[in-house]
Amino acid sequence: MTNRTQSLGLAALLLSVTLAGCKPAVSPAPPPAAQVTADRLVKAESEPSQWMTYNGSYSEQRFSRLKAINTDTIKSLGLAWFADYDTNLQQAGAPLFIDGVLYVSTAWSKVYAYDARSGKQLWQYDPKVPGEWAAKVCCGLVNRGLAAFEGKIYVGTLDGRLVALDAATGKEAWSTLTFDAAKKDDPLYRYSITMAPRVAKGKVIIGASGGEFSVRGWIAAFDASTGKEAWRFHTVPGNPADGFENEAMKKAATTWSGDWWKLGGGGTVWDAAVYDPSTNLLYFGTGNGTPWNQTYRDPKGGDNLYLASIIALNVDTGEYVWHYQTTPADTWDYDSVSPMMTADIEIDGQKRHVLIQPCKNGFYYVLDAASGKLLNATPFTTVNWAKGVDMKTGRPIVVPAARYEKSAFNLRPGVQGGHGWHANAYSPDTGLIYVATQDAAFPMVPDAKFTPSTVGYNLGLDFTAPATYYQKNPKEQGGFVGYLQAMDPATGKQLWRTKENQGPTGGALATAGGLVIQGAGSDSELRAYDAKSGQQLWSFATQTASLAPPISYELDGKQYVAVSVGGAVPGGYYAPNYSRLLVFALDGKVALPPVVAYTPPPLDPPASTASADVIAAGHEAYGKYCAACHGQNGQTRGSTFPNLMLTPLLKSQADFDQVVLKGVRSARGMASFAAVLKPEDSAAVREYVISIANEAKAKAPPPPPASAPKQAHE
Ligand code: CA
Repeated sequence: MTNRTQSLGLAALLLSVTLAGCKPAVSPAPPPAAQVTADRLVKAESEPSQWMTYNGSYSEQRFSRLKAINTDTIKSLGLAWFADYDTNLQQAGAPLFIDGVLYVSTAWSKVYAYDARSGKQLWQYDPKVPGEWAAKVCCGLVNRGLAAFEGKIYVGTLDGRLVALDAATGKEAWSTLTFDAAKKDDPLYRYSITMAPRVAKGKVIIGASGGEFSVRGWIAAFDASTGKEAWRFHTVPGNPADGFENEAMKKAATTWSGDWWKLGGGGTVWDAAVYDPSTNLLYFGTGNGTPWNQTYRDPKGGDNLYLASIIALNVDTGEYVWHYQTTPADTWDYDSVSPMMTADIEIDGQKRHVLIQPCKNGFYYVLDAASGKLLNATPFTTVNWAKGVDMKTGRPIVVPAARYEKSAFNLRPGVQGGHGWHANAYSPDTGLIYVATQDAAFPMVPDAKFTPSTVGYNLGLDFTAPATYYQKNPKEQGGFVGYLQAMDPATGKQLWRTKENQGPTGGALATAGGLVIQGAGSDSELRAYDAKSGQQLWSFATQTASLAPPISYELDGKQYVAVSVGGAVPGGYYAPNYSRLLVFALDGKVALPPVVAYTPPPLDPPASTASADVIAAGHEAYGKYCAACHGQNGQTRGSTFPNLMLTPLLKSQADFDQVVLKGVRSARGMASFAAVLKPEDSAAVREYVISIANEAKAKAPPPPPASAPKQAHE
């Protein structure tokens, strides 16, 4: 049976169920939108025409069984249609395709529905996240995806709401604030949601980010039809004086010391969540500790359960079943939240049902899905913080100097990680797993003056360190490059790897057509590779960064590939990034509008006249409050925030203060920092940026003639 007849057969079956008991004279109502049932979700792999969940099916393998687009036909893959987004920010969201409609989430947690036949927008939903909430978001105002169930589309919002939308209209069906509303303005509750919700057994499951600030991590389940909370599992213990919620928290508390709960502890759940019908378990990963530097979180250096761990809960009750801590006593921002999947693979001659995670800490982990037993832990990129993993104890063999307790350490993988949120794919045909890997370094320089803050990051290390560290240590190497890497899923052994890309590459899709399709990050291409050999077979110039994972679906007998693009490209202050939904088909002939020529404005800072002390104070405040979005050295970081070295605001302290202290751009995401910066601090920050802009100007070749910078429009 072909995929098409299979889906027609299912449609006929659904129709007959719908019509059972109806009189034939009644004309059937149009089919309701997104009728994703529990049964369809469990059997998603038998409906390859659809893409009903973030990673395609409950196994989260991102494998499309469609094969019309294949290693032979890929040459004629072209753009069928595209839709512009109304944002100039990074796009990370994977679309859903359900019964002829594409649903996609974009920056600022907005949701769009498109008729997949015509490309016509059916509706859009804007949760109207307050702009100033951006200051509570660590790493870009992104949203990674949606869930669908019984006529509703679910999205988590940057300001911590879980929202159910009517799939037919985009109107809110319900909206639940996922944390205590009374504490919404408490600086210890700087939660945000960027992950795609998951639906399992009538519940919507979501966690929240915030581990760089000061929050206590959790994951929670909500009734899919009402939004009522069903259960919640905190990932780290709270204040022992308040008692513990469960035995798991009581046990975890024995691995902490000091007053960790005052800054929440961290352990946020912000990406991977996998429901496995065969074990009835929900697997998810937890993030770093708060502050990053363990010295300031737990001076005794305990394991700090359940930070940087993979946890399995009973999906019905939220009760703890097992955990595996990838990074005990985390002090490196080694979140263990990277995408995971379940798979049935052969290990040592035995078929095993396993859970797989290529982790941010650089190790590739395979665990028994039912018991959590560690079956494999192999480095997949350059790793210098541990010599390996002791397979008897499951613990990493940590290099003592890597803990940077006495002096700085040039960490690999750096805080960018060996692998990020970029989705993995697995092909049962090739038997390979495809992972966006990274080779990255970051100097861990302790912040000797650390004091917790209610605004900005709480890291306990100097986030502005790289430039000065590498100047002082010329033998040490920095760098941040990305690859698509094919690995043996049982051993983590590398089979092939693409050429080097600048920064991270995107989420992957594997197909029964023998392909892996993946964005090349800031290299601004979508590429298709031969899944067996890694040979590049096709590419498309996306005109902007391509990081979000593609999906594939079938409509009217034709296979499509859809992907969101948008993100920082080299260039500087608000280079246009052309955020769009791109939809490809064989013989697609649509062309994107030509790129508008863009030349970044020249570096033209005022003269640097401030004292070294003022510049040093500005450097410190910049690292604490500005670097999160604007980058360690005034350049934008991984997303599309302005390069401050180029801002005209440097020319006037009064104008600079309007933005930094008065919040005149808060609607666009630049909150006022008046709560933590006094006027003299704002002046020092400006003087610091002026000083580094002058340094950069002195080093830069003379710029070409400039055109006016294009205005941002998000
Ligand atoms: Ca983190």
